[in-house]
Amino acid sequence: MIRVDTMVIGGGPAGSAAACGLARDGHDVMLIERAATPHHKVCGEFLSADTQILLQRLGVDALALGAAPVAELTLHTSSRSLTSTLPFRGLSLSRYRLDAALMQQAQFSGTRLHRGVMARAVRREASGWSVVCDNGHTIGCRNLVVATGKLGLRGIDDKRDHSRVGLKMHLRPTSALHRALEGRVELYFLDAGYAGLELVEDGIANLCMVLPQETTGKSGASWPVLRNRLTIALPELAKRLADAEPLWEKPKAVVCPGAGHLHREPDAAAYRVGDRLAHIPPFTGDGLAIALGSAALAVQHIQRGLSADHYLAAARDLTAGPIQLASVISRLAGHRFSRNLMFAAAARNPGLIRSIVRHTRLPLTPGETIAAVQPGVSRGSP
Ligand SMILES: Cc1cc2nc3c(=O)[nH]c(=O)nc-3n(C[C@H](O)[C@H](O)[C@H](O)COP(=O)(O)OP(=O)(O)OC[C@H]3O[C@@H](n4cnc5c(N)ncnc54)[C@H](O)[C@@H]3O)c2cc1C
Repeated sequence: MIRVDTMVIGGGPAGSAAACGLARDGHDVMLIERAATPHHKVCGEFLSADTQILLQRLGVDALALGAAPVAELTLHTSSRSLTSTLPFRGLSLSRYRLDAALMQQAQFSGTRLHRGVMARAVRREASGWSVVCDNGHTIGCRNLVVATGKLGLRGIDDKRDHSRVGLKMHLRPTSALHRALEGRVELYFLDAGYAGLELVEDGIANLCMVLPQETTGKSGASWPVLRNRLTIALPELAKRLADAEPLWEKPKAVVCPGAGHLHREPDAAAYRVGDRLAHIPPFTGDGLAIALGSAALAVQHIQRGLSADHYLAAARDLTAGPIQLASVISRLAGHRFSRNLMFAAAARNPGLIRSIVRHTRLPLTPGETIAAVQPGVSRGSP
C-alpha cells in the first residue's frame, strides 16, 4: 500500500487550497482529482472580496488571469429592477481558469498530484484511513481531507437535499449586451430559483441558473429547451439573450440543495472542506470563499495536530452566519409575495442591498486572518 501523511480527495478550489497550504508547510500531501483535464463547472463565477483575499494568500492573482471587474449589482423581478453598487470590487473569472490555476499552485508547492484518478471508497483504519482508487491503488494516510464538492463518497457519505439543478451556459454576447453587462452582475429571481448573468474573461458572458429539478431533470436541458423556458419564466432575460451565441451545445448541469446546508455531525475524524462542509445559496456568490476559507482552517488544524471535531466547530463558526442569512433571503426571494415585499423594502432603503451583500460574506477583512477564529469555540449555528 502507498502511504502519505495527508490525502486530499477532489481537486476543486477547496481541495487544491488545502493541498497547497499543507505542501507549503512541508507536509507530505497527495491530491487526487477524477477529471483528467481542466473542465467547466456550474458556477456564477463571481469572486467576492473574501474570495479574492483568500486567493491572494495562495498566490493566485485573478486579475492577471483575465478576471473582469464587477462594481454593480442589478436585481430583477418580473415587474421591476433595482441597481446598487457593491460594497467591494467583485471580479468574475471562469472556473475553467480558476480551478486550473489553483491546482497548479498546489503542484508547485510540492503536492503529489494525480489527475484522472477517482476515489471509490474510504475506510477508517487504526492509524488513519485507507482510500481505494479506481486505478487499482489503495492509499494509506494519517489525515483525510474530503473535498469532493457536490458528490458523496462511499465510506463517509451524508444525506443531502438534491431538489435543485444548477445550470451554466457561456455565451458570446452582442456588443449591445456586452456594453450593458460591463462592470455589472445581474440577478433575476423567480419562484424557487434564480438566474445570474455577468461577463467573465475574454468578453464571454456567463449565464448561471438554479431551477427546481422537476423543471429540467437531473441532467439539465438542451439550450433551445432552456431558452424556451426562459421566455416563459423570465421574458426580459430571454429578450436580452436573444442574439447571444451559445458556446456549448448543452448547458452544464449539477444537482444542488434548495437551501443552505452546514454539516453538523462530527464524523470519524475526516476534514470536510468546501461544498462537502457547507452550501450557501448560490445567488450570494460566496461558495468559493467558503471553499477556500474552510480549506485554510483545515490546514491550520492539521498543522497544529488539532482534531477534525475541533476543525468542524471552527468551520461552523466561520460559515454559519452568512449561510443562515442567505438561506432566509433565498426563501423570501423564492415566493412572489415575499419577493415583492423585499423589493419594495429595498427600493425605499437604498442601503439594504449593500448591507445584505456585506453580511452574506465570510467574516474576513483584509487585516484579519482566518487564524483569528479560535478552534473549537462556536458562536452560533444555522
Ligand atoms: C448554480 C451555482 C452557482 C454558483 N455561483 C457561485 C459564484 O458565483 N461564486 C461563488 O463563490 N460560488 C458559487 N457557487 C458555489 C461554488 O461553485 C462551490 O461552492 C465551489 O465549487 C465549491 O468548491 P469545492 O472545491 O468544494 O467543490 P468542486 O468545485 O465541486 O470540486 C470538487 C472536485 O472533486 C472532484 N471529485 C469528486 N468526487 C471525486 C472522487 N471520488 N475522487 C476524486 N475526485 C473527485 C470533482 O471532479 C471536482 O473537481 C455556485 C454554485 C452553484 C451550484
